[in-house]
Amino acid sequence: MAYLQLKNIEKFFGEHRAIKGIDLEIKQGEFVVFVGPSGCGKSTLLRLIAGLEPIDNGTLSLDGRDITSLPSSKRDLAMVFQSYALYPHMTVYQNMSFALKLAGVDPKIIREKVDKAAAILDLARYLERTPKELSGGQRQRVAIGRAIVRDPKVFLFDEPLSNLDAALRVQTRIEIAKLHRELGATTIYVTHDQVEAMTLADRVVVLRDGQIEQHGSPLELYDRPANRFVAQFIGTPSMNVVPLDAAPQLLSGASQAPSDGFVGVRPEHVLLGDVQPGSVPVTVELVESLGVETLTYVRLPNDVQLVSRGAERSRLQPGQQTHVAFDQNFIHYFDAAGKSRAP
Ligand code: ATP
Repeated sequence: MAYLQLKNIEKFFGEHRAIKGIDLEIKQGEFVVFVGPSGCGKSTLLRLIAGLEPIDNGTLSLDGRDITSLPSSKRDLAMVFQSYALYPHMTVYQNMSFALKLAGVDPKIIREKVDKAAAILDLARYLERTPKELSGGQRQRVAIGRAIVRDPKVFLFDEPLSNLDAALRVQTRIEIAKLHRELGATTIYVTHDQVEAMTLADRVVVLRDGQIEQHGSPLELYDRPANRFVAQFIGTPSMNVVPLDAAPQLLSGASQAPSDGFVGVRPEHVLLGDVQPGSVPVTVELVESLGVETLTYVRLPNDVQLVSRGAERSRLQPGQQTHVAFDQNFIHYFDAAGKSRAP
């Protein structure tokens, strides 16, 4: 049963069709992440759902009710922005209670709701401070708290972690995941960071050029990408994708390799080392030792570059020769247009 339903949603900016007829159903309690490259339309789609931009075509319904033309304030959604958007002269308590006060909620109930949200977000000690007396991470938690107290039908997050440094981003990401487990609230989250998408989402929606390329659970997208774009967008470093004729020997062990198009192999399935059946000599170009894993960039005699990821530390040096083979159990094929096909 769809809780939030998008039917053929379109958005134009002048002549530019930024959102091109999107259909999507979101279940109650689901955590859905919109990802895609810069300019793909993910923020615009979120803003259409929030009611911050008018929808040009299509319908949007929430909990069985058509909200396509309803003003933002009546949609019962709460949005958390990248920029926090806190009132600088108000205390944390006043920031978190502001919307409820405006709505005329009983002050005793406001106190209860703010205290509860502050406890969940570990903000109880900071309620009398103003935003400038808080760290970036604490400010973002206040922004989330402001959304929680409203008890909305859907939480909308627009790149909420992008102003935080790397360590704080990981910590806040864990807090958001925990919050979702505790509250079970329907959530839509926009990010360009696919690690956030993979770790937070029940379902990832990959957007490109105003359209959905694929949606599914994080591991479905990783293991069974619908096309070359999704295959290379999900996963770091990106899946190696090379023309089929660039390395025929590497596929000699594959039972039914097609004759044209592209072959895709994730870095962890590119194996380096001794000569073995189907392996090809390569030159090591670069070794990145990350402690927990090693990334090795190699070049085939025909100049095709591949990246390999291994858990072991490497003794290889740039300029050295070694051999490369593909793990034949994990090979992807794409046709000339980039669509996945069964081997
Ligand atoms: P980013 O990750 O860079 O924020 P995005 O995927 O969120 O990108 P959007 O901001 O949704 O992308 O923009 C989608 C497209 O619509 C882009 O081509 C953008 O230039 C265009 N666009 C967005 N807002 C407006 C606007 N107010 N007026 C005109 N064009 C806009």
